[in-house]
Amino acid sequence: MNITRDQVIQWLNVLAETLTQNSDYLTRLDSDIGDGDHGANMKRGFQAVVTKLPTVADKDIGTIFKTVGMTLVSTVGGASGPLYGTMFMQLGTSTAGKMELTLADWTQALEAGAGGIVMRGKAQPGDKTMVDALTPALAAIKQAGAEQKSLCEALKLCAEAAAKGRDETIPLVAHKGRASYLGERSAGHQDPGATSTHLMLQAAADVFCK
Ligand code: ADP
Ligand code: MG
Repeated sequence: MNITRDQVIQWLNVLAETLTQNSDYLTRLDSDIGDGDHGANMKRGFQAVVTKLPTVADKDIGTIFKTVGMTLVSTVGGASGPLYGTMFMQLGTSTAGKMELTLADWTQALEAGAGGIVMRGKAQPGDKTMVDALTPALAAIKQAGAEQKSLCEALKLCAEAAAKGRDETIPLVAHKGRASYLGERSAGHQDPGATSTHLMLQAAADVFCK
């Protein structure tokens, strides 16, 4: 079973709904250690994505992801816009010309996406950012592929690892982004960006597993 272009479009639509539903939650997390706009940023960005989707719905997956990336960069201020924008542009480069994706394609795309975030934001695992959800998620999906797990199983393991990475941001002291201005006081709070990354990967498991 592969990931089809229609499922990619569905994922983006579900993501817009999920991020809108979780907007207050993400904002509350960002109020604790940032400036309280992460929920609004993600909601605004993905609502803009949804309005753009009809213009690329008949294009290849790479073009769709690149359009998402450019839309996020141009509509979301703050750190998360350029970071998630870069991630989606890298997903797009990695999947250029493809109409469906195997587990290996999706894993490679996620690796490129995570690489884009690290290149742009320079965060390392343990810095209390979205990288702390993404890095274990990528390791989990790679391992699942190496163990010949099904696409569906691999996506579930990927989302579970992201959830664990998100939870493990709680005791960390932030070294990147606004939360780092708080120093030691950032410990004891869950990172908003790691939380939105988990929501994305959980939605991918839910939609691509059908
Ligand atoms: P801002 O911090 O500009 O208000 P958001 O609130 O939308 O932007 O996003 C905050 C999230 O961005 C943080 O929770 C963190 O996960 C992520 N983040 C911030 N800086 C970086 C970075 N350099 N690398 C990776 N992620 C980062
Ligand atoms: Mg913020």
